[in-house]
Amino acid sequence: DRMVSGDVQPDEESVEYSLRPQTLAQYIGQGKTKENLKIFIEAAKMRNEPLDHVLLYGPPGLGKTTLATIIANEMGGQIRTTAGPAIERAGDLAAILSSLEAGDVLFIDEIHRLPRSVEEVLYPAMEDFCLDIVIGSGSEARSIRLDLPPFTLVGATTRAGLLSAPLRDRFGVLSRLDYYTTEDLCAIVERTSDIFHVDISEEASVEIARRSRGTPRIANRLLKRVRDIAQVKGEAVISKDTTQHALTMLQVDQEGLDHVDHKLLTGIMDHFKGGPVGLDTIAATIGEEPQTIEDVYEPFLLQMGFIQRTPRGRLVTNKTYEHFNREVPGA
Ligand code: ADP
Repeated sequence: DRMVSGDVQPDEESVEYSLRPQTLAQYIGQGKTKENLKIFIEAAKMRNEPLDHVLLYGPPGLGKTTLATIIANEMGGQIRTTAGPAIERAGDLAAILSSLEAGDVLFIDEIHRLPRSVEEVLYPAMEDFCLDIVIGSGSEARSIRLDLPPFTLVGATTRAGLLSAPLRDRFGVLSRLDYYTTEDLCAIVERTSDIFHVDISEEASVEIARRSRGTPRIANRLLKRVRDIAQVKGEAVISKDTTQHALTMLQVDQEGLDHVDHKLLTGIMDHFKGGPVGLDTIAATIGEEPQTIEDVYEPFLLQMGFIQRTPRGRLVTNKTYEHFNREVPGA
């Protein structure tokens, strides 16, 4: 597994749980999303109604699950958590829906992966808080409506574009989570250090924040590894030196790039004079699936300006040459 993957790793679940902020006020960054939610939550509480259904989208590790939990806390309800791929049949979802209580939050992660037949159960549930159930079969079949308690659906997806239009249209609040600034990540590293009961210098927090690819999950993971190394060294306050040393050892460079990013970027520079080069060609050259490059490796490199997408293929930028201490061609 990559040190810099935004996805949760199997041994991390329990630590993550203990690190989750519980209230909006504890949730760092994402100013616009937080502001909006604060107003919507207050208004819903004043009207004594559930909050409108919320769709959160953005890359993994940015705090979608955390926000769903916070919404439930702020609304005073319980959270029920499931994921698109876990619900195979319409009946599975119907069972979950009918177990909800008034004011609960139903969180569906990876909601773009819900099967279509299951999605259709959601429409009346979201719109009218009811469940249409077919009883009997053939000419005897009859449909009956069951009432559901008022609840809030919070859907999360890394791929908003893959959501069907009828599902997307039934969310009242759509919020995109952005990569975090270094400043916000620093605050997250400091908060996590407090929870871990470790002291860290400000310079060391900045160093971790800069290498965390704008992602709290990665910041917390890097801090944990740096802490272990500082502890073994017997360091009372985690220093910048130790942090740099540890992160270099873990193959996470100053911009948060790892060996996979290096392979991709140097591949384009070494074999294709910096591009443009087609996705399939790069994939074959470095021995990866085109889909993996597009979905997993590329988004951060595009966001940071190490790669550009053109109609003729992928292109590395001057920033890439400079990052690898190479001469910019034609400069
Ligand atoms: P996602 O559901 O988007 O993959 P999570 O909500 O599971 O992300 O967040 C990953 C980790 O990052 C959690 O352990 C959480 O504690 C931390 N985290 C995420 N967003 C924030 C934030 N705004 N402030 C503090 N910690 C955060």
